Amino acid sequence: MSINSICVFCGARDGNDPKYVREAKLFATMLAEKKMQLVYGGGDCGIMGAVANASLEAGGQVFGVFPKFLNQYESEHKKLSRMIIVDDMHTRKWTMFENSDAIVILPGGFGTLDEAFEVITWKQLNTHQKPIIIFNQDGYWDKFIALTESIIGHGFAGESVRKLYTVVDSVEGIFEALGK
Ligand code: AMP
Repeated sequence: MSINSICVFCGARDGNDPKYVREAKLFATMLAEKKMQLVYGGGDCGIMGAVANASLEAGGQVFGVFPKFLNQYESEHKKLSRMIIVDDMHTRKWTMFENSDAIVILPGGFGTLDEAFEVITWKQLNTHQKPIIIFNQDGYWDKFIALTESIIGHGFAGESVRKLYTVVDSVEGIFEALGK
C-alpha cells in the first residue's frame, strides 16, 4: 500500500522543553516536503497546532478533524486545507484513522495515549494493518514500552504485540520506518 496520508497523534500542549515542538515541526515540514498529507485532531494549540502550522508553511496539505463540543477546552485551527467538524471523540478518531495510511505518535498526554491504544488494539484484533510508528523522542515513551513489556511478562499479551508498532528515536527514523 502506498503511504501518502499520515495521521499524527500528539499533545495539545507544548511540553516543558522547546525540543518537543522543535522536532514535531521538523517532522511536519518533512512531511509536506515529501508531499504527504497530515491528518490530525484539528486544534491550534500545543504540538498539534505546531505540526499543522509547520506543514502548512511548507506548502503541505493539512486535514483536521475537530469535535464541536471540544472548543470549550481547545480551539480549532481556522486555516487548514480541509476541516471536518464531528459530533464526538469516537467519530474524530475514526475519521482520522479512515483518512490515513499510517499513524505516527509523537509526545503527548492522556489524549495521545488514548488515541495510540485505540489504533494498537484495533491492529491487535486484525481490523487493520496500517503502520504505527512511535517517536520515542529522548526516551519520552520509555515507560509506555516498559508497560508493554510488563503486560507481556505477566502473560496478559503475547510476544507478538511487539510487532504491532515500530519505535524510532529520530524524525528521520519515522520516515525510514514508513519507507519514505
Ligand atoms: P493530549 O495528549 O492529552 O494533549 O490530547 C491530545 C488530543 O487528544 C487533544 O486534542 C484531545 O482533545 C484529544 N483527546 C483526548 N481524549 C480523546 C479521546 N478519547 N478521543 C479522541 N481524542 C481525544
